[in-house]
Amino acid sequence: MIVAHVDLDAFFAAVEELESPELRERPLVVGGDPHGRGVVATANYVARRYGIHSAMSCAEALRRCPHAVFVRPRKSLYVGYSRAVWDAVRQVVPTIERTGMDEGYLAVGEVARDFAAAREIAEAVQSAVLGSTRLTASLGVATCKVVAKVASDRRKPGGLTVVPPGREAAFLAPFDVRLLPGVGPRAEHRLRAAGVTTIGELAALTDDRLRRLAPGRVGAMLRDRARGIDRRGVETEAETVSISSEETFAQDVTDAERLHDEVQRMAGHVAARLQRSGDTARTVTAKLRYSDFSIRTRSTTLAVGTDDAARIGELACRLLDRALRDRPGALRLVGVGVSGLEPYRQLALV
Ligand SMILES: [Mg+2]
Repeated sequence: MIVAHVDLDAFFAAVEELESPELRERPLVVGGDPHGRGVVATANYVARRYGIHSAMSCAEALRRCPHAVFVRPRKSLYVGYSRAVWDAVRQVVPTIERTGMDEGYLAVGEVARDFAAAREIAEAVQSAVLGSTRLTASLGVATCKVVAKVASDRRKPGGLTVVPPGREAAFLAPFDVRLLPGVGPRAEHRLRAAGVTTIGELAALTDDRLRRLAPGRVGAMLRDRARGIDRRGVETEAETVSISSEETFAQDVTDAERLHDEVQRMAGHVAARLQRSGDTARTVTAKLRYSDFSIRTRSTTLAVGTDDAARIGELACRLLDRALRDRPGALRLVGVGVSGLEPYRQLALV
């Protein structure tokens, strides 16, 4: 397999710079209110020199750089640019898996026989994106997704890192374990507490130590990834047909308010995933599992898709109430799902 991970550089900020070229030389933060509780969505490279990064509070960003320019995200604008980017990428590599508006995997092996050709394809992707949008992208090329993803982050902005076959584990080994896709904050904490700080150290864990640190399939998967072993293929969009979130309760729940809270929270997760990929969904589904394990689902379909957490939550609560009216009872599980995904359509909404 030859796969590339493509990641646009400081995407939101780069779009804002294209729209207002006078911002290019200034520290720019796209995000929330620096005088409120806003967080940084994206900072341009000038702002990063002040230590500003994504997910930092805007108040902290302002402290680090009082003369930074703060702008609110303009999502419909980014969606338009994102569409142009992916249209350009598809001209070079037809099989793509978008994992966000600004990043995704490319099945380079379908158009390149070997790694020399793959490098040329990756460069062609960069030129195509630059030519059609004036945005820069960084790419990683490798035999599997996890290595390609780590590689795409190595030489930003505008970088290209090719990891030849056989070099996967050696390439990954020196990096901080936090950089390995799949290692979340909790796993990172446990690994670090046990003295595992690099991906190489994770790769070298014995079965015994691994079992104690990260038991079960997740642990084995993480160690495989640390060794550069990852058999996931590139899945095209058509395969992402639905997104869902569900919660099994420790004890069966009948309290309507508690159920509504759970449903709203799950609607938030679902909406966040839609927003990350720039999709909207037309169908909202509520799933209920009763104490006798029987399952009911109720769905509703909208004329125009949505990615709004409150809207999805409200619809799912209504569906839940309807199902509970039809069949009252204590619930072991509730779930919220969306389907009928449509890329880029929220333009019509906002
Ligand atoms: Mg990016």
